[in-house]
Amino acid sequence: MSLEVRGLHAGYGRLAVLHGIDLTAGEGELVAVIGANGAGKTTLLRALSGLLPVTAGTVHLAGTDVTGYGPEKLARTGLAHVPENRLVFPSLTVVDNLVLGGYTRRRGPAADRAQARDRAMALFPRLEPRLEQAAGTLSGGEQQMLAIARGLMAQPRVLVLDEPSVGLAPRLVGEIFSALGKLRDDGLTLVVVEQNARAAFAVADRVSVMDRGRVVLEGDPAALSTDPRVSGGFLGGG
Ligand code: ATP
Repeated sequence: MSLEVRGLHAGYGRLAVLHGIDLTAGEGELVAVIGANGAGKTTLLRALSGLLPVTAGTVHLAGTDVTGYGPEKLARTGLAHVPENRLVFPSLTVVDNLVLGGYTRRRGPAADRAQARDRAMALFPRLEPRLEQAAGTLSGGEQQMLAIARGLMAQPRVLVLDEPSVGLAPRLVGEIFSALGKLRDDGLTLVVVEQNARAAFAVADRVSVMDRGRVVLEGDPAALSTDPRVSGGFLGGG
C-alpha cells in the first residue's frame, strides 16, 4: 500500500472531528473522499499531511510508519498536499512558485527538478507561456493547475488534494480531473477530497464517503453511484 490509514483520530484542541478513519490507497490508485459540508474531509487531509496532530491511530506511507511526522518530514518521505483554495504565492512568478514546490523534493538534484518541471508543463501546457507571470494574475483554473504542478515538484509518491474543483467552470474541472487521471496512470497515488461527487466518480478507482468524522461507505464508484444513500445525499445536486 502507498498509503494506509488505520483508526485515525484528530481534531482541534478538545474538539474531536475524526473518529477512527480507515483509508487505503494502492500504488497508482486514485481514491476520492466525498461527504457533506463539515464531514471532516479537510481535517483528514490536514492530519495526513502533518498539519494537525494525530491523536490516535496510524498512518503508513509505502510501508513506513509516518504517524506524528511534521509536514516537512512527510513531504521528504513522499507525501505532497495541495491545499484548498490553491494558496499559490500571488506576487511570485509561476516559475518561482514551482521552484518553491521543489524545495522539499524527496530525492535528486537540479536535473530531476528540471525533469519535474517539464513533466508539469506537459501535464498543464497552458502554464508554460505563463512561467514569468505573477501567480496572482492567473485565472482560478490556472492557479489550481499551478498548485498541483507545485505539489508534483516535490516528486511525491502520494499526492493529496483538497477540493481541486472548487469555483471552477465545468470545462476546467474536466481538464483538472483528466490530468489527475493521467498522473494515476503514470503510477502516482492520489487521494482527492471533493464536494463535486460527479467529477470525482468519473475518474476515481475507489470512493470513500465520510459523514461526521467517519467513513460510512466505501467501494468502487460504479457500485456506489447507484447506492441511494450516495445518489440522494451527494450526487443529487452535482
Ligand atoms: P467542507 O466540505 O465544508 O470543506 P469538510 O468535510 O472538509 O467540510 P472540515 O473542514 O474538516 O470538513 O470540518 C470538520 C469539522 O471541524 C467542522 O465541524 C468544522 O467546524 C471543524 N473545524 C474545522 N476547522 C477548524 C478549526 N480550525 N478549529 C476548530 N474547528 C474546526
